[in-house]
Amino acid sequence: MSPALARSLIWVAALLPALAVVVLIREGDLASPSAALNFLGRLTGIAGLALMLASAILSCRVPGFDRPFGGLTKLWKTHHYLATAAFLLLLAHPLLLAFAAAPVSMEAAVATLVPSGANWGLWTGWAALVLMMLFLGPGYRFFGEPDYQRWKYLHRLAAPAVILALAHTFLLARTLPWFWEMVLWVGLAALAVVSISYRFVWSRTFGRLPYRIERVERPANNVVELELAAAGQPLRYEAGQFVYLTPRDPNLANGRGEEHPYTLSSAPGEPNLRIAIKALGDASRAIQDVAVGSEALVEGPYGGFFPQTSSPEAPELWIAGGIGVTPFLGRARHLASLGEAVDIVMIFCVQDEARAVWLDEFRELASRLPGFVFNMHYFYQQGPLDGTFLSEHCPNVAARTVYICGPGPLLTIAQQVALQAGVPRTRIVTEEFDLL
Ligand SMILES: Cc1cc2nc3c(=O)[nH]c(=O)nc-3n(C[C@H](O)[C@H](O)[C@H](O)COP(=O)(O)OP(=O)(O)OC[C@H]3O[C@@H](n4cnc5c(N)ncnc54)[C@H](O)[C@@H]3O)c2cc1C
Repeated sequence: MSPALARSLIWVAALLPALAVVVLIREGDLASPSAALNFLGRLTGIAGLALMLASAILSCRVPGFDRPFGGLTKLWKTHHYLATAAFLLLLAHPLLLAFAAAPVSMEAAVATLVPSGANWGLWTGWAALVLMMLFLGPGYRFFGEPDYQRWKYLHRLAAPAVILALAHTFLLARTLPWFWEMVLWVGLAALAVVSISYRFVWSRTFGRLPYRIERVERPANNVVELELAAAGQPLRYEAGQFVYLTPRDPNLANGRGEEHPYTLSSAPGEPNLRIAIKALGDASRAIQDVAVGSEALVEGPYGGFFPQTSSPEAPELWIAGGIGVTPFLGRARHLASLGEAVDIVMIFCVQDEARAVWLDEFRELASRLPGFVFNMHYFYQQGPLDGTFLSEHCPNVAARTVYICGPGPLLTIAQQVALQAGVPRTRIVTEEFDLL
């Protein structure tokens, strides 16, 4: 099953309660425009709450669970879209019910929208909606460049929002028979609780593996490559996967005890883990000075960027931009350690020579890995990556699966160039270094 199909199935499953309501529609539900609006109002409420709970269930971050869905970044995009759809449906829900009540009287319509007195059913519904606005808002670029830590703190409001939305439903729901209403919401809420407990209790207690920073290499000015030795059970992973790293060096200026996602640049067969980090913000800048010998916790592995095997029969094109080179570095090291022939063309896009990190190592890997061709692309000399560069440096582009990892603009350009070169969309795989 393709990752896109697997992710579509999540939507179908999340929309099943709403589908059941449509299937069980009664004659009276569409008897008049007002009844139809009322039905739609209840339907949007049920669909919205089910999508909200499905979104909560997807936040569990169980290593391996994300792989069939194309990796954690893709799964979390689905989580984000489910929450957005839930919010829009839940916003439409009271408006539709108010419009449905309008033909009876304006007072009835207003009473549907504006809670008064001890009308806990309405108060809880509005409180849930307001909390949703607060915790979802900072995640949209529409409101400016998101601040990850602020977004993370505000995201904690998701739990009270879900509880209030459930309370609202228990107090007011009357679309399905009471018993089924209970089974549905208690079942989905229980799954959400298990999922969130896994994430915040189980994985923090048992899921993080202890490591020690063994060595710090400085391949460029603002980049370090950390080597970590297991202080207990070692992590098992595939090349190009990523982990959440929590450094515990007490002298770190920023980001101590804070988890951040980083790709493993080591090959799975190596005794230690390697993680290359570019200074992009407070925590990644501070970790450039992490002390050798200090402790760190590693959680994962996550991601499903690459297929599990590689062969000349399945030719690949790798397009890396900046620090987005790390999954390719890990995979090239791994394939070189296996020594089997491959058919891979790599294009490493950077601004200028100063940012061409690991250039010598890539050239050395290309010299001993049969079928691995390495090319550099310098923006300041050659301009944006284009079809001419691609056709000159990569034979039979259209027959390859294209893997792209890098900053947003490169991702967009590289996808366009690959599509224009005849690569079908289904054979373009991207990895984003941004979870928002
Ligand atoms: C799947 C994945 C793999 C990555 N692999 C690497 C890698 O191999 N090497 C590397 O140098 N960087 C990698 N990154 C990026 C790295 O996680 C961020 O640069 C780092 O978290 C920035 O934190 P900061 O506090 O220094 O910067 P900030 O100024 O806080 O943020 C800079 C950017 O990083 C994002 N970010 C910040 N904190 C987090 C977080 N905890 N989780 C997700 N995103 C965050 C922000 O949204 C912002 O876009 C990867 C990111 C992802 C999602």
